[in-house]
Amino acid sequence: MSSDLFVELTAPNGRKYTQPIGLFINNEFVKSKSGKKLTTINPTDETDITSVYAADADDVDIAVEAARKALKSPEWRDLDTTDRGNLMLKLATLIEQHAETLATIDAWDNGKPYSVALEVDVLLATAGTIRYYAGYADKLHGQVIETNPKKLSYTIREPVGVCGQIIPWNYPLAMAAWKLGPALACGNTVVLKAAEQTPLSILYLGQLIKEAGFPPGVVNFLNGYGRDCGAPIATHPKIDKIAFTGSTATGREIMKMAAINMKNITLETGGKSPMLIFDDADLEQAVKWAHFGIMSNMGQICSATSRVLVHESVYEKFIPLFTDYLKKTSTVGNPFDDSTFQGPQVTKAQYERVLGYIESGKSEGATLVTGGSPYKNANGKGFFVEPTVFSNVKDHMKIYREEIFGPFLVISSFKTEEEAIERANDTTYGLGSAVFTQDLSRAHRVARQIEAGMVWINSSNDEDFRIPFGGVKQSGIGRELGEAGLAAYTNAKSIHVNLGMKL
Ligand code: NAD
Repeated sequence: MSSDLFVELTAPNGRKYTQPIGLFINNEFVKSKSGKKLTTINPTDETDITSVYAADADDVDIAVEAARKALKSPEWRDLDTTDRGNLMLKLATLIEQHAETLATIDAWDNGKPYSVALEVDVLLATAGTIRYYAGYADKLHGQVIETNPKKLSYTIREPVGVCGQIIPWNYPLAMAAWKLGPALACGNTVVLKAAEQTPLSILYLGQLIKEAGFPPGVVNFLNGYGRDCGAPIATHPKIDKIAFTGSTATGREIMKMAAINMKNITLETGGKSPMLIFDDADLEQAVKWAHFGIMSNMGQICSATSRVLVHESVYEKFIPLFTDYLKKTSTVGNPFDDSTFQGPQVTKAQYERVLGYIESGKSEGATLVTGGSPYKNANGKGFFVEPTVFSNVKDHMKIYREEIFGPFLVISSFKTEEEAIERANDTTYGLGSAVFTQDLSRAHRVARQIEAGMVWINSSNDEDFRIPFGGVKQSGIGRELGEAGLAAYTNAKSIHVNLGMKL
């Protein structure tokens, strides 16, 4: 192992491991052509963890070439589909075997609580998703379409080709798995760019891809900045499809860039997802799910139910119940402490962004119920924010309208069902939503009227890799997860066979 491409690290929990720091191309770690690196920071204490090679357009070209070659190689193109699924199952098993190291890396690099990184990110959302899609590899088929006896018509489902995948930092491994799973099951090859804030676990995953036995070039991982590495992926003439998760602003840029070569795109972008709590709701459960839906993962969830609208008759009751529960549950601290519910925000930029919205809420006249300041720990370091709640929030306020991406809840009251639906839909976003009521008819009636890709009835954000995930309006295009997640990764080819029609 060359020491230029791997470093020996000891994580804050004492775990020692070898961290690859190159770009993962053709099943090998390599330096970037420019030799440039980017440094990743521990958000808990603001120290540098390590530096990894950063790709730009030249490296994207090399990775795309590798992916194109792999697409046509008999080892991948002609691989028996059951064997393709078995490779993915092997990868899922390896992820499970290395789960503690992977979770350690993400708790360190991203700041999320270790137990969540292990149970949710690594085991459920990463290994689980790869295993789920492995099962599809040998169950994808076209159709025979009856027309007339002189014609045989059928479709085959072909891989789209080389897929460029650009992921964010909030769930590094899970976001990779949501994109790799369907792409690989359908026989595509991949050039995936990790977020510059959290490259480490993705590089570690590269080792497992190789160990699982995927042919060289099928999966390539690049680190790099959006402008230097993401944009060359989005514009690359030899990439057939772009899948992106991140902010709506960047999603819009990606869409424009992808238009140059008319690439197939799927986008999973921002949200300001509403939760409607009706007067007959089980308030205790509503409190717990509302907390889970916004305070988990430091509020850094695209589908977070960040706007809670409560019926006026239970509004005054809901606020102290929520605040008491938050004070008991939202323990802020070191991600490696078992008692921690909330770690730091991922970067200084995100920390400052959340603090900026706190100032905005105060100056716009909303009522600060709890939180509202940086959270200070003993050493005064780290990007920690107090879990924050504003009530009395009006619809025109920035904190009500914009995605904050922090442990930050806004609460408002409503009078009627019609008003609640109208205000829930008064947003450019349409990702998640939640409805709390014991009235079955109302629950389904409201669910059908909410403009969102997902509605949780009497829960929030309990997603599942078997169920489609995605948004409407400016929250995205297309779906990930579930059977629907496969749609973006194959093209139907129609074959017309003339069995005797004469001209
Ligand atoms: P971002 O959308 O800018 O970054 C996401 C990914 O896109 C990263 O890999 C980044 O390198 C890449 N990227 C950035 N600019 C690019 C470009 N011009 N071309 C190609 N790729 C590019 O997100 P951010 O700046 O890290 O976060 C800002 C805000 O975005 C957050 O506060 C939050 O509101 C939102 N966000 C949403 C999600 C989500 O899951 N929907 C995830 C992360 C951030």
